[in-house]
Amino acid sequence: MSVARDTPLTQLPGVGEARAKKLEKLGLSAAGDLLAWYPRDYEDRRSLCAIRDAPLEGRVCIAAMAAEHPRLARIRKGLELVQVKVVDHSGALHLTFFNQSYVERAIRAGEEYIFYGTVEEQGRRRSMVNPIFERVGRQAFTGCIMPVYRLTAGISNHLLASLVRQALPCAQGIPETLPQHIRQAHQLAAAEFSAKNIHFPENEEALALARRRLAFEELFYLAVGLSFLKNRRDKGGEGFSVPPRPKEEFLALLPFSPTGAQSRVMDQTAADLTSGRPMNRLVQGDVGSGKTAVAAFAGWLCAKGGYQAALMAPTEVLAEQHYRSLSALLAPAGVRVGLLTGSMTAAGKKKTRAALAGGEISFVVGTHALISQGVAFQRLALIVADEQHRFGVAQRAALAAKSGEDTTPHVLVMSATPIPRTLALMIYGDLDVSVIDQLPPGRTPVATYVVREDKRQRMYGFVRKQVAEGRQAYIICPAVEDNPDAALPGEESPALNLKAVKTYAQTLQREVFPDLRLGILHGKMKPREKEAAMSAFASGETQVLVATTVVEVGVDVPNASIIIIENADRFGLSQLHQLRGRVGRGPYQSHCVLITGTRSLEAMERLHTLASTTDGFKISEEDLKARGPGDFFGNRQHGLPQMKLADLAGDMRLLSEAQEAARELLEQDPQLTAPENRPVLEQVRRLFADTPDIFN
Ligand code: ADP
Ligand code: MG
Repeated sequence: MSVARDTPLTQLPGVGEARAKKLEKLGLSAAGDLLAWYPRDYEDRRSLCAIRDAPLEGRVCIAAMAAEHPRLARIRKGLELVQVKVVDHSGALHLTFFNQSYVERAIRAGEEYIFYGTVEEQGRRRSMVNPIFERVGRQAFTGCIMPVYRLTAGISNHLLASLVRQALPCAQGIPETLPQHIRQAHQLAAAEFSAKNIHFPENEEALALARRRLAFEELFYLAVGLSFLKNRRDKGGEGFSVPPRPKEEFLALLPFSPTGAQSRVMDQTAADLTSGRPMNRLVQGDVGSGKTAVAAFAGWLCAKGGYQAALMAPTEVLAEQHYRSLSALLAPAGVRVGLLTGSMTAAGKKKTRAALAGGEISFVVGTHALISQGVAFQRLALIVADEQHRFGVAQRAALAAKSGEDTTPHVLVMSATPIPRTLALMIYGDLDVSVIDQLPPGRTPVATYVVREDKRQRMYGFVRKQVAEGRQAYIICPAVEDNPDAALPGEESPALNLKAVKTYAQTLQREVFPDLRLGILHGKMKPREKEAAMSAFASGETQVLVATTVVEVGVDVPNASIIIIENADRFGLSQLHQLRGRVGRGPYQSHCVLITGTRSLEAMERLHTLASTTDGFKISEEDLKARGPGDFFGNRQHGLPQMKLADLAGDMRLLSEAQEAARELLEQDPQLTAPENRPVLEQVRRLFADTPDIFN
């Protein structure tokens, strides 16, 4: 039978109704779909070993002859064993198959097979459990680089691989989707070659070529699509024209002079706000670089111009802190600042909402409560999202829809997570990027130490000394409550030793710091308690704050000079960097102590990476390498289409090549109307199927 790209899978041998349904779940219904179902990994099954020489680690292929007829034994109900001895010139190998009784008939004495599996050894006896096997001369999946696919229940990798193999002939003459000049300029393999070799590569080089082309292709379509998005914004929509005002008027309110970087970003922001085109700007600056001042400036400019501004923060603790500091800062300028969080009393919320609708509040700070129903603005011209990576594209859009007029509000996104620039451009492709690449003067880098349990008493002594000098301390715990039964995800044994904030705070107060004023803060506290705890710490009333990661982002108490992080190995690098950013915000030499009992070398390495640098950019790159961008941005909040092959973090080089190619192509043919560019347009459409309006 000849297979075409539109041949239904039900016409392939081995696919009945039931399997077809399961394949459908993966989005596979025709032979062509299989070609685009790229492997997620590969197994090198090429090395052929003699039984005696085979290494005991990793899986190998062994060519051997069955020395006897397989023996079937029923051990007990639900457990069947087939055992057979096979031999080659070097020795014997004892095979055991569990619950695969068909093997008794499939392997025949005297015939030669290739067995693929892990060799084990006891004394001089060598054995293998559940190997994959094929008759010599009829090999399909041994002696080759084997694709490993994403699967679903009832569909094995072996089945999928054999279906792909059957579908492979329809890669013949597959249409080329990339313009010839782009393929040439970037040395990309042909479509047909790539379609075949991504599944069953002849060797590593062929695989690398195929992968490079296909990953490039994905990134290229992504870049083209994002460019469309950006163009749409450039053309599209009126923005509010905020009346200009001398920046100096705002600077006079600040208790410090801005850094050069802050000043530059304020200018960029002011230019956008007054332009009449909707702003979409990402302000990227490491922890402590002073992003709040830029947000305050933008809000001030809007408020003074007769508009409203909203600042969204990811946590209530942070929203309240911003509310306090912005009220204090802007009150002398006659700007009324309001607060709206989910935990406020119904009456309090109602009051704020009324003041927003009536236009009396010109700068509102809040959590996601700001986007809840019933919130209406009179003239919302600016939305600031602090620590954007926790806000989805959707939330931004929802808030934008509340502006109260047809005009699109300006959007300013603040991120402390220093995303590598190329990646930022890619992910926020429709944003302009400003970087605050300078810390306020007089900061000394936070000294960071990785410390084991045996140094605990010394560490407490150090905290005491800092407090005696008038400073304050954070002690961070990974858990809220003791729960000895709770195993963390991915944890084999229950996490018995996690420091839990409640009991730990009590122990510290009783046994370690009976003479100090300790506070406690965690996410399960009542909002009012949280606020009280936070302001007691901010005012210096409590000297040591025992907290969970609720203080992770944004919290600003410049007098705090030491942060202790318990079970530090539980946290990601970027998260640790954020936590560390709670100190070193004032003129005092600050310290970060990472306590760990981990035995994992990898975890220790991560902690030492953090200790060796305060460069947030470097840290986020390390973090990206370790965890991948999906995790990094949390649940695909960046709203980009899913990549099948390309890895946004790992393929940085390829990414900039693809962007360059997209830029060049769109310069020549902005709407992709030329016939030879039609396939590109179609592919972009397909990739952005969830965002169809990018073409409008
Ligand atoms: P982040 O970028 O992490 O949001 P913040 O805006 O919270 O940083 O600023 C960190 C601290 O530095 C705050 O206490 C703030 O008042 C202070 N700060 C900001 N800019 C300056 C500056 N130019 N000079 C001195 N201190 C500054
Ligand atoms: Mg901040």
